[in-house]
Amino acid sequence: MTRIFILLITVTVLSISIGCNKSTSPSPPAVSTIILADLITNGASVMWIGAHPDDETALAGVLLAKASLELNNSCHLISFTAGKYGGCHPNSLQNGTCPCPDSNYCPDTMAVARSKEFSDMAQFIGAECRVLNWDDAFLNGQVQYFEQAVDTVIKLIRSIKPSIVITHASNGGYGKQDHIYVNQIVRKAYQTLPLAERPDYLYYAIHILPDGIDTEQVTDSIDGRAYSIKLARTYWESVIDASRFYQTQGLDLQAQSITDTYHWNGFYLAGSH
Ligand SMILES: [Zn+2]
Repeated sequence: MTRIFILLITVTVLSISIGCNKSTSPSPPAVSTIILADLITNGASVMWIGAHPDDETALAGVLLAKASLELNNSCHLISFTAGKYGGCHPNSLQNGTCPCPDSNYCPDTMAVARSKEFSDMAQFIGAECRVLNWDDAFLNGQVQYFEQAVDTVIKLIRSIKPSIVITHASNGGYGKQDHIYVNQIVRKAYQTLPLAERPDYLYYAIHILPDGIDTEQVTDSIDGRAYSIKLARTYWESVIDASRFYQTQGLDLQAQSITDTYHWNGFYLAGSH
């Protein structure tokens, strides 16, 4: 089955067009039949690794809410950076939640504020969380930082021992460079680990289908409409609830109703053993 998604997404921080156009052809059962939501329903432990606080909610919030909030599965959220170089969203500047007193740039204060947002969100869904406090500039593809980052992820996986690791897609979700580097770091860490220590599954959270990927491997298409078979709208509502913690980034999805918002995520099975 080939799927091409064209779907209009309107989120406060994103304005993306993708679309859905399905055609069906006979194909043998593939590894894509491993549905992430089913794994989670069966109790699999989950570890999200992202570049910034709020990525997990925007890109994988529905599944993380299901795993942790509903099922109480072991769920760890890792953010490489505290996002300290990010500015405040205009809404945050307007409603007084921006922590920068005189300008829209206060890295150290912003790091504290965004780490707290991350921690509050994790507490809301009952997940463990950790900000690694990497400087954003380290996610620049330089070899020495890349290898150090890979080692960091390997150590985290060895310590947490998740069954499923979810990270950014190879196109960064929507082309964001930091996200692309984190994808490369996590992928390398997964491949470097010996089989005995490797998590059972590696998934990428997808917003826009990257070029050249096998769409057979994309599972768990989730949006605010009825397209999602495996996940009820309840979880979308949980994501809306979780998004309110990210005031500085304007990731407040409260204003957008389920029926009006075409918020799509898919999950790409990038590795299993
Ligand atoms: Zn991000």
